[in-house]
Amino acid sequence: MSVEPLPQDPLEAVVPPEKSRRPVQPRYPDAVAMVRALKPGYPVYCMRPHVVKRVATSFLEEFDGRVLYAVKCNPHPLILRPLYEAGVRHFDTASLTEVAQVRELFRDAECYFMHPVKGRSAIRLADEVYQVEHFVVDTMDELHKVLEEAGGEGLAIIVRIATPSAGAAYELSTKFGARQAEAVELLQAIKAEGCQAGIAFHVGSQCPSPRAFKTALSIVGEILEAAKVDIHYLDVGGGFPAKYIGHDVPPLTDFFAEIDAGVKELKLRRDCVLMCEPGRALVADSMSLVTQVHQRRGDTIYINDGIYGSLSETVTARLRFPVRPIRLEGPEFAEDHMDFTVYGPTCDSTDVLPMPIRLPSDIKEGDWIEFGRVGAYSNALTTRFNGFFPDAYVTVEDEPLEI
Ligand SMILES: *Cc1c(COP(=O)(O)O)cnc(C)c1O
Repeated sequence: MSVEPLPQDPLEAVVPPEKSRRPVQPRYPDAVAMVRALKPGYPVYCMRPHVVKRVATSFLEEFDGRVLYAVKCNPHPLILRPLYEAGVRHFDTASLTEVAQVRELFRDAECYFMHPVKGRSAIRLADEVYQVEHFVVDTMDELHKVLEEAGGEGLAIIVRIATPSAGAAYELSTKFGARQAEAVELLQAIKAEGCQAGIAFHVGSQCPSPRAFKTALSIVGEILEAAKVDIHYLDVGGGFPAKYIGHDVPPLTDFFAEIDAGVKELKLRRDCVLMCEPGRALVADSMSLVTQVHQRRGDTIYINDGIYGSLSETVTARLRFPVRPIRLEGPEFAEDHMDFTVYGPTCDSTDVLPMPIRLPSDIKEGDWIEFGRVGAYSNALTTRFNGFFPDAYVTVEDEPLEI
């Protein structure tokens, strides 16, 4: 049995106490150079910190408010660090683990606990250990829980409201979100407790429609009218779309324009902080995934990552990523292409990409396939099913694959 080189231990990279102890990050011009050097039989994530930085810098410039990065989308330090370097200091966190990771990585970063259903111990520790001051609620029960565990003083409590369906790849208002009448009661109760109040919504992930934000903001207007409570925070959530094959999405500036227009119609106090919580739009472009073909049977190939690994969004959101085949030796790839059924590595027959992938007709065992623009909800969602767990990270310097 041949032993493959072990991927870098991810924990080592998480909290380097001093710079000198940072592990050396393997760095290559592009995925092809990485493949030449490592000939990896395991999946490899190719990280592009320069792309993260560029995207974040322009997002911060163009959005007229505070930008919180939604950590769940991709919590890897090779994403978090360039975001921080671009100026992101606020993080949307949903678990104590995420809070701890961010606060231990960046001492001056601020975490917002944006999960509407939290464990009591998580609230208490977020408050006591990590100085979290912003909590989301969408029920009276949760409000009482937060007040009991974190105390009222100095807290900002943000009411997550439900918004109508907007054609997003994921709806995020079926599980969470107060209806209007509940939101009104919550805002009044928060004010009565002497806390700062806020409103948050999420129009759904990969939302194709700028209008959805304006519609949601008009609901905010109705709630404010009825509650007669001045809010200190207005959080328009995430959902800003990234580019995928077949997703012709409007530019982010169209979304920001709708948000500006919607906010102008609200009667907000002058010091009300406008916030957003992008995940996908900040990081999707910045990472690719190199997989290897382990067998071919006619028009079917078996590769070493799949829907239980980094590619689950091909199923849950029907996303299609650009691909680039890579071969080191032997004849160049054939010019003609054909559609392949692509199986993942686990023994489950549902571990198959739900759409065919177009590749050179002579692709064979030992070739590699780079999937581009998988920076969002890929490595964050991998399971350990059947012993397959993609966990090798390198840095590359090229641009994302074109759509
Ligand atoms: C998932 C999530 C986000 C990020 O959503 P994207 O679609 O990745 O921008 C932001 N806020 C909350 C509350 C979320 O659950």
